[in-house]
Amino acid sequence: MQRKFTLTEKDIPRQYYNIIADMPNQPLPPLHPGTKEPIGPDALAPLFPEALIQQEVTPDRFVDIPEEVVDTYTMYRPTPLYRAHNLEKLLDTPAHIYFKYEGVSPSGSHKPNTAIAQAYYNAKEGVKRITTETGAGQWGSALSFACAQFGIECEVFMVKISYEQKPYRKLLMNTYGATVHPSPTSLTEAGKKILAEDPDSPGSLGIAISEAVERAANDPDTKYALGSVLNHVLLHQTVVGQEAIKQMEMAGEMPDVIVAPFGGGSNFAGLAFPFLRLNLTEGAHIRCIASEPASCPKLTRGQFRYDFGDTVGMTPLLPMYTLGHNFVPAPIHAGGLRYHGAGVIVSQLLKDQLIEAQALEQLECFEAGVQFAKAEGILPAPEANHAIATVIREANKAKEAGEQKTILFNLCGHGHFDLGAYESYYQKQLQRHEVTAEEIAHSLSQLDTPVPA
Ligand SMILES: *Cc1c(COP(=O)(O)O)cnc(C)c1O
Repeated sequence: MQRKFTLTEKDIPRQYYNIIADMPNQPLPPLHPGTKEPIGPDALAPLFPEALIQQEVTPDRFVDIPEEVVDTYTMYRPTPLYRAHNLEKLLDTPAHIYFKYEGVSPSGSHKPNTAIAQAYYNAKEGVKRITTETGAGQWGSALSFACAQFGIECEVFMVKISYEQKPYRKLLMNTYGATVHPSPTSLTEAGKKILAEDPDSPGSLGIAISEAVERAANDPDTKYALGSVLNHVLLHQTVVGQEAIKQMEMAGEMPDVIVAPFGGGSNFAGLAFPFLRLNLTEGAHIRCIASEPASCPKLTRGQFRYDFGDTVGMTPLLPMYTLGHNFVPAPIHAGGLRYHGAGVIVSQLLKDQLIEAQALEQLECFEAGVQFAKAEGILPAPEANHAIATVIREANKAKEAGEQKTILFNLCGHGHFDLGAYESYYQKQLQRHEVTAEEIAHSLSQLDTPVPA
C-alpha cells in the first residue's frame, strides 16, 4: 500500500508551462485605467522587472527556469505526492484520493514557487526593495524568505484583520528581515483615503495592493510583486503540476478530477494547467474544479468584465470574473481567498467552460479539514480546507454512484499558523456565512468599466 510518491532533485522541472500557447480563445488585453484603451507591456515597467513583464505576455509554450532558481527550489522541491488511504477508508469511498503537498516549503505554502523566481529576476535587474501586500500572511512570508535568499529588502502591507489574527506570520516575516505594516496605513495616499472613509477598516487584499503599488510607483529603486492573479505568477506555479504528472505516473493512474482552493488562481493553475494541457492537446477529459469560499464567490456568482486588480483603481483594467473592486469580503479565516477577482487566464478558461468552480461555506470546510487532519496527520491551511471539502463531496458522489474515481487535490499549505482559526471553529464561534445577492449586485452596480461582448 504505497502512500508517498517521491521524486529526486533531477525531476525538478527545468521549464515553466505557459497554457496561453494552448488556449482556444486568447485572454483579452488589459486596458489603461484612464483611457480604457489596450495597453502594452511597457505600461508595467514602473512596477515589475523586464524579465517578468516579458513572461506576462509571452506566447511561448515553455519558459526556461534559471539555474539559480532551480537551485533555490532544491531547498524544498520536489514536493511529495501522497495517496490519502486513511481518508478513503474513513469516507468508505471507492474513490482514490491523492494530494500534492506544498506545505513542505520554508514558509509553508506553494507561494515560494513564484516568490523565488520574482526575487531572482528583481535582484538580477538591480532592484533594491520589493513592496507587496499579504492577506493571511502566506505570500508575505514567502516573499520575505525569497528576498532574504537574494539579498533584497522587502516591505509588506498586511491586511489589518490578518495582522491582528495572525501575529506569528508577521514575526516570521520579521525573522526573514522584512518590514510589515497593518493595512490600511497612513503611509500612502490610498491608505489615507480608506481610513478617512472608515477608520476601523479591517482592510482587504485590494486595499493593501493599492498601498504597495503606490510605494513602488513613487520610488525608482523599488518594485512591486504580486503573489497571485497575474500570468507570470500562474506560470511559475506550474512546477507543481509538472511534478504531479510524474508522480501520478509512478502511482500508475491519472486523475479524473483535480481540485484546488481558489483565491486569485495561482495554486489552482499550478496544479491544474499541466494536466489541462493533456485535455487541450491530447484529448484527455480531466475535470478541474476551483473551490472558492461562499463569502467571496467571484467565479460562481461574479460577473465577467473588466475591473481593477486593487480597490483604489490604480492597476490596469483586467478582463476577469469579479465581485467588484469595492467588494470587502467578510472576515472569514481563509484570508488567502478574500480577493474580489480572479486571474485573467483562469477567468477565460472558466468562461470557455474548460474548468469548473464551486463555492463552499466555511463550516463545511473546517469540518472537512479536521476530518482530513485526523486521518492523514497534516493540519491543512484554512484555504486548503475548501479543496478538501470539495474532494469529500466528490468522493461521496463516487460512493453513491458506486464508481471508482481518481481525485487529486492541492494541499497548498499547512495550517500551523492558523490554529487561532481552528480554535474559533472548536469554540463554535465561526458562523455559516454566504454573501447575499443584494451585496453582490450592489458592489457590481458601482462599476463603470467595460463589459466584453
Ligand atoms: C495564497 C494562498 C491561497 C490563495 O491564492 P491562490 O493564488 O488562489 O493560490 C490558497 N492557499 C494558500 C495556502 C495560500 O497561501
